[in-house]
Amino acid sequence: MDAVHATAEETLDPVDWHETATTAHRVVDDAVAYLRDMRMRPVWRDMPAGVRETFTEPLPREPQPMAEVLRTVSENVMPYPMGNVHPRFWAWYMGSSNMTGALADFLAAIQGSNLGGGNHAAVLMERQVIEWCRQMVGLPAGASGTLTSGGSMANLLALTVARNVKAGIDIREEGVAGLPRPLRFYGSDQIHSCHRKAVEALGLGNRALRRIASDAEFRIDVSALKAAILEDRAAGLLPACIIANAGAVNTGAVDDLEALAKLAAEEDLWLHVDGCIGALLAIAPRGRQLVKGLEHADSLALDPHKWLHAPFDVGCCLVREAAAHRGAFAATPEYLEPASRGLATGHWLYELGLQTSRGFRALKVWMSLKEHGVEKFGRLIDQNIDQAGHLARQADAHPLLRLMAPVVINIVCFRYDPGGMDEQALKALNIEIMLRLQENGTAVLSDTTLRGSHCLRAAICNHRTRYEDIDLLVAEILRLGSQLEPQSRRAAG
Ligand SMILES: *Cc1c(COP(=O)(O)O)cnc(C)c1O
Repeated sequence: MDAVHATAEETLDPVDWHETATTAHRVVDDAVAYLRDMRMRPVWRDMPAGVRETFTEPLPREPQPMAEVLRTVSENVMPYPMGNVHPRFWAWYMGSSNMTGALADFLAAIQGSNLGGGNHAAVLMERQVIEWCRQMVGLPAGASGTLTSGGSMANLLALTVARNVKAGIDIREEGVAGLPRPLRFYGSDQIHSCHRKAVEALGLGNRALRRIASDAEFRIDVSALKAAILEDRAAGLLPACIIANAGAVNTGAVDDLEALAKLAAEEDLWLHVDGCIGALLAIAPRGRQLVKGLEHADSLALDPHKWLHAPFDVGCCLVREAAAHRGAFAATPEYLEPASRGLATGHWLYELGLQTSRGFRALKVWMSLKEHGVEKFGRLIDQNIDQAGHLARQADAHPLLRLMAPVVINIVCFRYDPGGMDEQALKALNIEIMLRLQENGTAVLSDTTLRGSHCLRAAICNHRTRYEDIDLLVAEILRLGSQLEPQSRRAAG
């Protein structure tokens, strides 16, 4: 042997595969128990200082036995989750994950495939999952799509396609500087903040996104929208795209998709539907009537990591015209020329978005859909809507609670209101209730402000929630409210 090869090459593979299997089995056993016993643990708890400090340890130079590494994770990481897999987590808007999806993420990492594209099974599976998403929301055959990191990225991709199609110039070549007239996008005052970031990133600027007032049900006022489009056109701007809410983030409101589709057709605007919350209502036996008109979208964002409960992260962007989708992102460099045979044939998925290397997100969606079937996911959506109705009825009926917005899907905005307190004192009291619920580990809600009124917000996108969890929430809010109310009044007075 020559001197260069005198020592064995190094690898990250284990020395003892048998020992690795034993360790891996233990990880799986612990993981199963973790999910099984989730209900018994606090939804959330803060980390003690000692745990926080471990995250400032320096870069490790020396190796450590795997058993020790895993022990650190089980002591310092696993007990301090965000909490969204817990049955009483209803903050912001998230799914609650599932065991099958977790196994899928493990297998995806074991195979390790890069979904930039090529001729391999994972690529076909992503295309199949996109096709299933298309079928779920009812877009026509031939529509295109891509899995993304989430809804924000799905919306950004869709708005990029809309901008490029409606620009009237080769905007990929000329950029926004070449626009003869400034583009205008429209959405209600209830649209998600990711749209602002999208128009900023697209070089259009926040002002290019005109917010139209929403009505009493928090839906876009279609006649005000029409007036705004005509006004902008008369002023020399180029109205380009309507962003419709299918499930607005504050209240779950669903815009009148049929009316928006009609207006978009009349005025020659792109119709993008932000369906991160509500597009999947289309698979719910009772919920689907709420999103009639979804199928008219030119593009649509949906979020399998919300109502399909895929582990983070996976979003989906669908575009009706496949050529428009590819036309916005395709750029084949010389080192990625497709071949006629072998691995480099097939579909280059990186031409449908901004990422080149991409993870195997399809597997966790595919495996869960295969295991449960789409109809069960549809029933779970209806179940969450029913649970939200249960909470809303209590908030409406109880003299110390007040419902703050109509409940159309699974989002309930309400507050504790004993009467005789001003807005500022009510806000302080309700924030304190929300924080106590978190700190006690009972439940996690978030809050929002609707037309100047602060409220607690429960978004029930959770396949583990039971009616008894809702009842516990109401009881705890009433208990905390009555306990905190006297001091709130003193502070306000
Ligand atoms: C969650 C959400 C988004 C953003 O999606 P992410 O997956 O969090 O990136 C956009 N719009 C709406 C309406 C949402 O609810």
